[in-house]
Amino acid sequence: MEPRNNPNPASGDDTEIVSRRIERLSLHLNPIPRTLPDGDRQIGMATCARPKLEVDTGKLSGYMRGPHRDVQEKVFEYFESRPELQTPLEISKNDHRELCWRQLVGLVREAGIKPFRYVADDPAKYFAILEAIGSVDMSLGIKMGVQYSLWGGSVINLGTQKHKDKYFDGIDNLDYPGCFAMTELHHGSNVQALQTTATFDPITDEFIINTPNDGAIKWWIGNAAVHGKFASVFARLMLPSHDPKAVSDMGVHAFIVPIRHLDTHETLPGVEIHDCGQKVGLNGVDNGALRFNSVRIPRDNLLNRFGDVSRDGKYTSSLPTVNKRFAATLGELVGGRVGLAYSSVAVLKLAGTIAIRYSLLRQQFGPPSKPEVSILDYQSHQHKLMPMLASTYAFHFATSYLVEKYAEMKRTHDEQLVGDVHALSAGLKAYVTSYTARSLNVCRESCGGHGYAAVNRFGTLRNDHDIFQTFEGDNTVLLQQVAGDLLKRYQEKFQGGALTVTWNYLRESMNSYLSQPNPVTARWEGEDHLRDPKFQLDAFRYRTSRLLQSVAVRLRKHSTTLGGFGAWNRCLNHLLTLAESHIETVILAKFIEAVQNCPDPSARSALKLVCDLYALDRIWNDIGTYRNVDYVAPNKAKAIHKLAEYLSFQVRNVARELVDAFDLPDNVTRAPIAMQSGAYSQYTNYVGF
Ligand SMILES: Cc1cc2nc3c(=O)[nH]c(=O)nc-3n(C[C@H](O)[C@H](O)[C@H](O)COP(=O)(O)OP(=O)(O)OC[C@H]3O[C@@H](n4cnc5c(N)ncnc54)[C@H](O)[C@@H]3O)c2cc1C
Repeated sequence: MEPRNNPNPASGDDTEIVSRRIERLSLHLNPIPRTLPDGDRQIGMATCARPKLEVDTGKLSGYMRGPHRDVQEKVFEYFESRPELQTPLEISKNDHRELCWRQLVGLVREAGIKPFRYVADDPAKYFAILEAIGSVDMSLGIKMGVQYSLWGGSVINLGTQKHKDKYFDGIDNLDYPGCFAMTELHHGSNVQALQTTATFDPITDEFIINTPNDGAIKWWIGNAAVHGKFASVFARLMLPSHDPKAVSDMGVHAFIVPIRHLDTHETLPGVEIHDCGQKVGLNGVDNGALRFNSVRIPRDNLLNRFGDVSRDGKYTSSLPTVNKRFAATLGELVGGRVGLAYSSVAVLKLAGTIAIRYSLLRQQFGPPSKPEVSILDYQSHQHKLMPMLASTYAFHFATSYLVEKYAEMKRTHDEQLVGDVHALSAGLKAYVTSYTARSLNVCRESCGGHGYAAVNRFGTLRNDHDIFQTFEGDNTVLLQQVAGDLLKRYQEKFQGGALTVTWNYLRESMNSYLSQPNPVTARWEGEDHLRDPKFQLDAFRYRTSRLLQSVAVRLRKHSTTLGGFGAWNRCLNHLLTLAESHIETVILAKFIEAVQNCPDPSARSALKLVCDLYALDRIWNDIGTYRNVDYVAPNKAKAIHKLAEYLSFQVRNVARELVDAFDLPDNVTRAPIAMQSGAYSQYTNYVGF
């Protein structure tokens, strides 16, 4: 190790120092060498010597790039041109909140990037903007999401034309910053149990918003502590009945409640606002707590798309029950989940890029009397990072598909699609964000001590992203919705109902599951067979069908003694495994489709390689399940493991090209650091040498 402070720099060998400086300088000028100092890449891989795949990064990234790259570039260019708007490493909570607000205002008013119009009309473009600004600073991405997707989205999706006419422009140009006030101190996941009330007063034609007890204080509300002027408040709609002492509870509805004066920004009478304080991450977002004490709002402020109250206090709705209205209300809010799943993949790309570029260049140890080798040449390191890189590609295509389906749903309002998108967004959000959260630790650790320097970003990425697992629906709760949906469709299938597109595979694989595994194919172990998408997809589908069938039987058995709730709880881990298995199946299916649709042969080969790694790594991870039922024989299990390791090695050989194809601009991956460029001089400069 080089001493940090050499007490006598002149005492060393001057020529050595000079040549080291020159070497550093040349790295600085040409920071990303294409030919790596690879030592002996074949260490322990003698059997794997095959020609390296040629990957055309441009073609691959052209295929991956969404249709809205231009607006993303505008975002990157804007922040590049405004260094004073870039978030510094060390910043207080209050300064970060103010900076985040200025960043958003700059983006909208100066750069002219106005995301709100795309929330309803072109969600893919909205998510592209979200992805870009989230990679500049995740707090900014969430701040934008609160303003446009949550507050703005509730107004346009749950309200009617009169609300759009009145609020659209103000939300769009940030004159009306707002909050989405759903969660309460006592209830986060269980939204149906919210306690805030909105009681209609027929005399004044107003709703009276009340926080009945401390547990009903709205908590964690983004934009509330500092900037918000309005909140869409979720409250139980209470209507007076003919008995003057009684009121009817019509269930949870959303209401627009002004919380601060538009001009003076003073908190309005009856509203009490507190700051939720310093958080583990996302400190650029001002989360606050809101209490309402008989706050009166006009009847028109009810967001009345799914239920309305007339001047004389009569309730009308096109939906017959409280449950249906509640489901329709929440159904309109899935956009937030789609955005989180999509943004989480962006975080994974970013962290993976930094970790892999570093691991290619970092050298430690090596064979005797030979140069040191790149740490990515160690099998263990490949095992940490290469399946992750393959998963990043897999998630990229799966979440792009989700965005596409979500946009189609917004366009067509097709009922089946609404159900599909609801379950798919819940499943992908839960699966992808949990995976990314785990991977951020792996990336940090795989960069050793340098991964711990704040400048290298893993700390903020990890802290900011962590809550993605909880907000917009806790992941464990969301996976249960996926399992519930699968069971519902399973029952429908046996009652002769149709399965929608995403679930169609269950029909066939259920039939094959109900017959015994094929003892012949269970022994096939050739590479062609194991890399055949049919084998891979069949294996995933078989597992899901088996889990579905077995959990349905267990639920039936336990419900006779434990009741529905108890039986569900008894089978909960089984249900979560089922949901994850289903989501992995959908992800693989979409990945295989993306490989097959790729027009360029070189890009297609690269994608096929990572797709095979994704599939075989997952099968190997769950090999116990497949072995237990003899779906794969012992020799086949061994072959799967060997091939997965070999594919990891192959992916390592094109890892540079694969991360370059994510096409993240330098000001996003932020490389004043050795981490990505090998230019240690940039790093030593950073600490003041
Ligand atoms: C930074 C931040 C920003 C937020 N922004 C907003 C906002 O702008 N507006 C807003 O309305 N809300 C916001 N929230 C609130 C957020 O949506 C909730 O925290 C989230 O929905 C989870 O609810 P909870 O905290 O009550 O967790 P709980 O529901 O209490 O969950 C706690 C634990 O219990 C487990 N659990 C709960 N139910 C079950 C079950 N049925 N089965 C198994 N396990 C279960 C969960 O898995 C979890 O591990 C924000 C939260 C944070 C931290």
